[in-house]
Amino acid sequence: MNKFFEWQESPECDFAVLGSPVGHSLSPAMHSAAYAAAGLDLDYIAIQCEPDDFPAALERLSSQGCQGVNVTVPNKFAAYEWAQSHGGLAGEDVGAAPTVSVNTICLDSGAGISTDEPGFMASLRAFGILRKKKTLLLGAGGSAQALALRLLKDEWPLTVWNRTSSKWDDFCDQRGVDIPILDQPDPTDFELIINATSTGLTQTSLGIEWSKADPSAHVVDLAYGERLPVLLAEARTAGLKVHDGRQMLMEQGALSFEWWLDIAAPRADMLKAIS
Ligand code: NDP
Repeated sequence: MNKFFEWQESPECDFAVLGSPVGHSLSPAMHSAAYAAAGLDLDYIAIQCEPDDFPAALERLSSQGCQGVNVTVPNKFAAYEWAQSHGGLAGEDVGAAPTVSVNTICLDSGAGISTDEPGFMASLRAFGILRKKKTLLLGAGGSAQALALRLLKDEWPLTVWNRTSSKWDDFCDQRGVDIPILDQPDPTDFELIINATSTGLTQTSLGIEWSKADPSAHVVDLAYGERLPVLLAEARTAGLKVHDGRQMLMEQGALSFEWWLDIAAPRADMLKAIS
């Protein structure tokens, strides 16, 4: 557990991450390493905050001179609601999908963007996944929906599953898209399985029968921590290739850094700080 502050007691800072839980976040260590490598006298802290308190927490941070925040579970939809404009990096500038949730905010301008999905796509390239794969996406939260939009835009063959399947029904209705929705998280015949549920944070097993998976499949969990997310541990036992969310964390953090500060992020230093 890393150091964090309750939002009502957060001290002055330049940048912060807001979430609940947030004590596991490696963002403070990663961004602090980036500032040190770039010779910048800035600080970045972790703040515990629930969605109902999100606007008040940002008002407090803004009044204290904070320049920008990253947003993690469960605050990304609250961040989308808070932001006065959406787009920028996650919009037409990099050809990415329109954002459905926000994980990076610039407090001066009130703008919010998603660095998650461009960060995720960059992490796939780092894992050597360069071509479109037959993909099963697990979850329907902020990250899953952002990834789905991007994968659909790039015409990946996509199937989804979520514990609450109505969320994908609603998503398809609202977006006017048609995605196969599974009743069970069945890995049969997929080349890439992405876990974008938050079960990696709670180490809850989804009970997937990994013996049904293609032995050459890649399995990616967006979560990261001191222990390998349980879904990856199970998939690795079955002989599959597994990747946790650290590379994505670094890539999306680097994009946030570059958006806020307009200088190239020291990616190698950032990755080293969280490895
Ligand atoms: P959300 O809170 O928006 O969504 C949570 C999702 O997890 C929902 O689909 C929910 O299903 C599902 N879920 C929660 N508990 C269970 C359970 N016990 N069984 C099955 N499904 C469950 O989270 P985010 O989309 O923001 O984040 C998802 C994960 O991705 C987290 O682990 C987060 O840490 C990680 N992440 C990592 C990043 C990185 O940089 N590496 C960046 C962004 C996210 P339901 O709809 O049924 O409630």
